[in-house]
Amino acid sequence: MAFLKQIERKWQHKWEEAKIFEADPDPKKPKCYITVAYPYPNSPQHIGHGRTYTLADVHARYMRMKGYNVLLPMAFHYTGTPVLAMSKRLAEKDQDLIDDFVNVYKVPKEKLKELAEPFKMARYFHEEIRAGMKAIGYSIDWRREFTTIDPQYNRFIEWQFQKLRERGYITRGSHPVGWCPKDGNPVGQHDTQGDVEPEIGEFTLIKFKYGDWVLPAATLRPETIFGVTNMWLNPKVEYVKAQVDDQKWIISKESAEKLRYLNRKVTVKETFRGRQLTGKRVENPATQEEILIFPADFVDPKNATGVVMSVPGHAPYDYMALENLTQSSAELKEYGLTPDAVAAVKPVSIISVAEYSEIPAGDVIKQMGITSQLDPKLEDATKEVYRHEYHSGKMKPNTGKYSGLSVAEAKEKVKTDLIAEGKAETMYELLNKPVMCRCGTECIVKIFEDQWFIDYGNPEWKMKAHKALDQMEILPEELRAEFNYVIDWLHEKACARKSGMGTKLPWDPEWIIESLSDSTIYMAYYTIVKHVKKHNIKSTQLTDEVFDWIFLGVGKPADVAKRAGIDAKVLDEMRNEFMYFYPLDSRHSGRDLVPNHLTFMTFNHIAIFPEALWPRQIATNGSVLMQGAKMSKSFGNIIPLIEGIKEFGVDPLRMGILASAELLQDADFSLTLARSMRDRLERFYRAGEAIAKTRSPEAAKSLKSQDRWLLSRLQEHIRMATEAMDKLAVRKAIHSALYELDQDVQWYLRRVAGEKETPKRKETVNYVLNQVLDAQVRMLAPVTPHICEELWEKIGGKGFISAATWPAPDSAKIDTRAEESETLVSATFQDTLDIIKATGITPKKTYYYTAAAWKWRAYSTALKKAISTKVIQSELMKELMKDNEMKRQSKSLAKFVGRVIDEVNRTSAEKKQKQLHVGTINESQILTEAEAFFRRELNAEVHIYSEDDPKRYDPKNRAQSAKPYRPAIYIE
Ligand SMILES: [Zn+2]
Repeated sequence: MAFLKQIERKWQHKWEEAKIFEADPDPKKPKCYITVAYPYPNSPQHIGHGRTYTLADVHARYMRMKGYNVLLPMAFHYTGTPVLAMSKRLAEKDQDLIDDFVNVYKVPKEKLKELAEPFKMARYFHEEIRAGMKAIGYSIDWRREFTTIDPQYNRFIEWQFQKLRERGYITRGSHPVGWCPKDGNPVGQHDTQGDVEPEIGEFTLIKFKYGDWVLPAATLRPETIFGVTNMWLNPKVEYVKAQVDDQKWIISKESAEKLRYLNRKVTVKETFRGRQLTGKRVENPATQEEILIFPADFVDPKNATGVVMSVPGHAPYDYMALENLTQSSAELKEYGLTPDAVAAVKPVSIISVAEYSEIPAGDVIKQMGITSQLDPKLEDATKEVYRHEYHSGKMKPNTGKYSGLSVAEAKEKVKTDLIAEGKAETMYELLNKPVMCRCGTECIVKIFEDQWFIDYGNPEWKMKAHKALDQMEILPEELRAEFNYVIDWLHEKACARKSGMGTKLPWDPEWIIESLSDSTIYMAYYTIVKHVKKHNIKSTQLTDEVFDWIFLGVGKPADVAKRAGIDAKVLDEMRNEFMYFYPLDSRHSGRDLVPNHLTFMTFNHIAIFPEALWPRQIATNGSVLMQGAKMSKSFGNIIPLIEGIKEFGVDPLRMGILASAELLQDADFSLTLARSMRDRLERFYRAGEAIAKTRSPEAAKSLKSQDRWLLSRLQEHIRMATEAMDKLAVRKAIHSALYELDQDVQWYLRRVAGEKETPKRKETVNYVLNQVLDAQVRMLAPVTPHICEELWEKIGGKGFISAATWPAPDSAKIDTRAEESETLVSATFQDTLDIIKATGITPKKTYYYTAAAWKWRAYSTALKKAISTKVIQSELMKELMKDNEMKRQSKSLAKFVGRVIDEVNRTSAEKKQKQLHVGTINESQILTEAEAFFRRELNAEVHIYSEDDPKRYDPKNRAQSAKPYRPAIYIE
């Protein structure tokens, strides 16, 4: 462990000294520009945060070794509520948060007071996170670091928003938004606990009449109004009679409050329990039918109006609640009901759908085995019925003028008609409630009036976003559908708030641009910030026309430079640097940013830049679990990044985070895993160290078949690892480069261990192992750069391995014959072990009988035929019988063909090609060369015969069962 620490420090120091990760434009080299979402500095990093950044770093290091001039920069996102909310919690002395900071992350207690100030909090964790990123060895060009409250960055964002506005993408108006009533701010995904994006939907409120009063039943399926059998109220919760604008409504108490946020004027007149209305009658406005109000526990007063119409034929909740309704007359009496009245209510069928009987809700409830109206499975049941009815349901004749319409059509039409007749209206509500703000308050929907929005609903813009997505590589590709869905679903997004740090809206400076809106094209800013810092360019010099020239090539640079007071040469360099590194080659982030940041980035690039500069790739990854559980402080399983580095070492930690899962899967980290990585890497290092100094090119001239075999296998592992890295399947690459390659090395070491060890032979073996090490160190360098630098130095590699070349498979070293020969040895060895195991013999002598020449001829004829078609036994026999030697022993031939034909037909095409390419191998010679190996491993004498050798020792007549690649075996 101590040596790991020492190696880490040594190489991080050397990298910094040599500035090898500082990337400047180099016209002679292809560029690769990789960025990863910058962090909010509102808490220290834990190892879960490490995954996205480590993956981006591995990507950058890989591309660097592939010969690209790679730029990987980093900045810090001070903007908006993420920092603000956290410092507020500290200011309010939130004990959970204080425990978390002090006990888990070891923030000094005396710092806490200071951190209650947003700016100081951001500054503090900014330093902390940067130190962590350096300690874990990220190959970042730190010259380009900035924060989103730097005045120069503010100017850049102002310019971006001016452009958006000029191009018609900014609107002002009233739209529903997710809202925290306590903070008085709109909430997006980054403002909520568990990072949930609030999803807003529109309920239809159908107004059932109760005397002068209205019970507005909230539904997402207005077309089912014709199947209503009763009304539900929750008897245990509070309802109110309220004046809502000019109407008299009966609604839940919570609903009255929410309607105010939707700009309704609400005056509560009277509060009472729901049970006071059960047993009363209301009138269905669509059918004028009188129905009873029943009690139901599933009715949530926090959802919409808390008034629910009952459609038991098609709504599983209603069906279940009706079944659950007690039949005991004493209890019913309390609700003002009688058993007869309840029994008279039967589900009504109004939609026909092929998959179900008359009553779909009943079918699904039975299938799912649901017995209670509070069963969470009812949510799934509801979705399932809806999915089928929406796609293939038809309205029945009892729905009047809607009869024959599809459910999809009827849904819209009934809604429009009821609203037009004054019998219904609409209400916005969160569909994925409860959504909790980070401050702990439950979010609601608010009509945000007279606000600034980015109009992601613009159809033309959406079309271009789809186009950009089509041209982009998405890793992993499975996520493409989700991106398309998000592009379609996005609508106006509130883009400014009245609190938090950030950039003021240039034309309405009361407003501060919020954090998901000031982080969409900043990748462009990284390309110039280096010059801004170096030449101390002031924000006032960064005028709109300066940005117009740098990013859009608009204007006369000489005039622009003069007016801005920027050296013309510097301005030129900035433009060149932007044009050199743009477009962005890869954007990395966690997959939770698909529905917002990653899609916003796509939209905004389209709005600002020409098509040639749109991003080329998005790479996303899943999160990190800790021993199977989500990392959270309530589980007490958070490991701060710095602790993890101390405990396991940087390279084992990097490997532990990346080796356990492919992109989209959640990586399951555990202490055992990290320790096993550390042990594994230590073994790799020690073994490498031992052979590092043994390069002897002369030895390449005296390779044996087993040597050529390992070198040939190496090419295959290089090919696999490269293919995997190209798709950022890092786990697979590690498996090829470390584990699978190592299995081959272990076999090789066993094979050569039995050989007579002359100095010359030793030299050859070391040469082969050295070749493997050289490639292996290079393939592992992106993931475990420190250990690999150290080994590289020991091998005598030139310069840093971080700047060395990624290995390419060498086709001259692919040796199919050596591979087939080695397969013969390993298969024969395995067969021998199987026999020993099955018989329990301790072998003293082992006899191998290789297949006769005619069997090889017959086998290769079968192979040739099997390349294009399945071989039929009779046809093959017919052809083989043309050969006189075979004809002479037709009985043995028939037996042999019978034994190999299925095998040949089952063999993969690739394997068949390989074997045909190699032709007949000299099995006797190969086994004889491996004799020492067999003798040593089996601790027995070894004899090798051809099956037709008349002098063979074969007391049990085994020889005749020999097949090509499968010698017959006899053990004494
Ligand atoms: Zn809040």
